Amino acid sequence: MTTDPAADLPFYYGSISRSDAEEYLKLAGMADGLFLLRQCLRSLGGYVLSVVWNVEFHHYSVEKQLIGTYCIAGGKSHCGPAELCEFYSKDPDGLVCTLRKPCLRSPDVPIKAGVFDNLRENMLREYVRQAWNLEGEAMEQAVISQAPQLEKLIATTAHEKMTWYHGKIPRQEGERRLYSGAQPDGKFLIRDREESGTFALSLMYGKTAYHYQILHDKSGKYSMPEGTKFDTVWQLVEYLKMKPDGLVTVLREPCVNNTTKQTPVLPSGRRQRTNGYTPPPGVPLGGSKEVTASPPTERQMLPMDCNEFANPYHDPNDLKKFFINRDQLMIDEVELGSGNFGCVKKGVFKTQKGHTDVAIKVLKSENEKLVKEEMMREAEIMHQLSNPYIVRMLGLCEAESLMLVMEMAAAGPLNKFLSTKKDTVTMENIVGLMHQVSMGMKYLEEKNFVHRDLAARNVLLVNQQFAKISDFGLSKALGADDSYYKARTAGKWPLKWYAPECMNFHKFSSKSDVWSFGITMWEAFSYGGKPYKKMKGPEVISFIANGNRMECPPGCPDRMYALMKDCWTYKHEDRPGFVKVEERMRAFHYSISNKTLPEGTADIAEPLK
Ligand code: ADP
Ligand code: MG
Repeated sequence: MTTDPAADLPFYYGSISRSDAEEYLKLAGMADGLFLLRQCLRSLGGYVLSVVWNVEFHHYSVEKQLIGTYCIAGGKSHCGPAELCEFYSKDPDGLVCTLRKPCLRSPDVPIKAGVFDNLRENMLREYVRQAWNLEGEAMEQAVISQAPQLEKLIATTAHEKMTWYHGKIPRQEGERRLYSGAQPDGKFLIRDREESGTFALSLMYGKTAYHYQILHDKSGKYSMPEGTKFDTVWQLVEYLKMKPDGLVTVLREPCVNNTTKQTPVLPSGRRQRTNGYTPPPGVPLGGSKEVTASPPTERQMLPMDCNEFANPYHDPNDLKKFFINRDQLMIDEVELGSGNFGCVKKGVFKTQKGHTDVAIKVLKSENEKLVKEEMMREAEIMHQLSNPYIVRMLGLCEAESLMLVMEMAAAGPLNKFLSTKKDTVTMENIVGLMHQVSMGMKYLEEKNFVHRDLAARNVLLVNQQFAKISDFGLSKALGADDSYYKARTAGKWPLKWYAPECMNFHKFSSKSDVWSFGITMWEAFSYGGKPYKKMKGPEVISFIANGNRMECPPGCPDRMYALMKDCWTYKHEDRPGFVKVEERMRAFHYSISNKTLPEGTADIAEPLK
């Protein structure tokens, strides 16, 4: 996993040392303007640009600014490392010369991972584990889909979970804690300073306590007076373990804060779980007492904040309970949607663990056996799936009519949501949602299921940041040795979403779902637009067969349109699968998240030509 926006650049070497950089430049011939890019160890997300001029090396550090832009000290800001290098290839703007010739990394030299890369990734996992009490697959899915948001959150709150962090305590209390127990040199703690909202470091040396203020500059960086600047307090502490940077000694042993030991730290601004969710004993919700010392900053809701993220079956034995008792269900009159099968109603599902809002697909009572069997098949498929980005079935209830009980996706179908909320949904938001859909589809592909009705109308939103795939009415489980499902007869099919092989040979596979994913992307990026305008199904078939494809929706990034077109590769053998599709969605999602872009430059981080 990489969130490094320079990873695509052919002249990027990762975390190599200055002397290694010089070695590569020597090997490449030392021409004037020869350059490469490497990772900076001091700043989270920063780089160093190494350039040759006049048989000498010049190293410029590229800072990542708090709002997500990049700049060389004194120079202009750029939205990514690629743009920055492109700029300096045209204009020296203070450098010794323009960047003329990239020192290309040979294919057998991998990008070198940095110390912070591993640290950062473990940090993400640990954070998700503690903050949302997630494990295993749910934790992995959270980390993959939310990495950019989590990194930002960690940069501002990560210190809160460290053993050496003592929260808001007076200087005297800090001293008392340092003096209690053994007093080795280098024993330290970090505390909030009472008056100013900044941090202080208390440090033991020669049985004496020293106190230092940690500076926090305008750009948000932390440092000791005149020392090296860091993006986070925990990085500063890690650094001070290696270099004293003006202190009496390096930091050695943390003075452990016992008062927070048992308390998982929750991200600031986290909301209480709703829907009557009662936490298991010992798991406090909504921020621990220690953390509230710093005022919670209101942040965007993440998928993990919702009940619908983790599998609701805490007890794996519950999975066997396919049927739900009628008395566990309260059915509302509110209709969420309808179809020819009947309608979907809002309801509440009652268990010992509390009440959960649910959506209930109710079969029309006059319906025939055939329709009933169809719903049973849909339930059987859903029963086998559990992924945060797929609507989970909670069970089936046979009472006044047959009812399929599902997790609630309260914000409704994606196409409707986007067409009514054009002004508030950004392109980055859509990319994040479509990345989640690609993760759900990758899971489906891995489990050997074909959806056969992937469309924006069947992507439901829990909220603006959280999408789930739904409607498994046409879905099929493939046999272990099958790569496609063959329909005997054509039914009421969503032709505009179907790949050529579906129409021509009735063959359905994950590759034909990829085609539908492309159409769904098109719908999303055109804010709920209707694909192929007023064309009729059969017209679309010949339109495609003649080599035509839909145009790029206005404002849709080039890289997203390029992916759509690859999803619409005529031959399914040449079409990418969901592993590839998810990878490309992820790379683009990471490359644009947390950045403020000037209008019209949405498509970024393209390697230099
Ligand atoms: P159909 O097979 O008729 O397309 P769907 O499963 O797509 O049936 O459901 C029809 C509509 O019901 C959806 O478009 C949506 O508005 C609503 N709906 C279905 N499932 C849910 C859910 N889990 N949460 C919220 N609304 C839902
Ligand atoms: Mg539907």
